[in-house]
Amino acid sequence: MKIKTHFLFIALFFSSTFFACTSSKEITDYNFISREEWNALDAKPFNLQVPERITIHHEGTVFDPEKRTAATSLKNIQSWGMGNARNWSDIPYHFIIDFEGNVFEGRNPFTKGETATDYDPSGHLLVSCFGNFEEQLLTEKQFNSLVNLISEMCLRFDIAPETIKGHKDFTTTLCPGKNLYKYLENGELINAVKKRISKLK
Ligand SMILES: [Zn+2]
Repeated sequence: MKIKTHFLFIALFFSSTFFACTSSKEITDYNFISREEWNALDAKPFNLQVPERITIHHEGTVFDPEKRTAATSLKNIQSWGMGNARNWSDIPYHFIIDFEGNVFEGRNPFTKGETATDYDPSGHLLVSCFGNFEEQLLTEKQFNSLVNLISEMCLRFDIAPETIKGHKDFTTTLCPGKNLYKYLENGELINAVKKRISKLK
């Protein structure tokens, strides 16, 4: 217990440096967009956590990049969530991926996620994809970034790929939508992550 608390403090201390590193294209195979770049509001203080598993979401709104950019959508989601509607401390997810495969920096992974549904996200690293996958299809770029990001997070936080689940595995919800959930059901996502991890090691 003592060791874990210790780790959390060290992790928090270094987390900003940490994220400066993830934006480097040399070590990632996706375009990383920092909070500063999408003009995020500052997060309010919230419960801390150590990421132990990965949970996939969809943003839930039909995403049309022709109408609104991902950065603008993200900004709107954050403002709405931090307002009276939810009173969250920040954007609820740790990472969000758009149709082009850009990975947007969400809340700090050492901060617990927030949800409007009935499950406890403590220890969950929440990765969300723009779109509504009951109605839309995941793009190939989005799937590839999802695999690359998750693989990197598994290595960084020593998370087993077998812990990768969908939101609907924990509570009654359609999230992350059937067209994304099918990759969890058929094992394609976990297999791709395992393959990627073995290449990165
Ligand atoms: Zn969800």
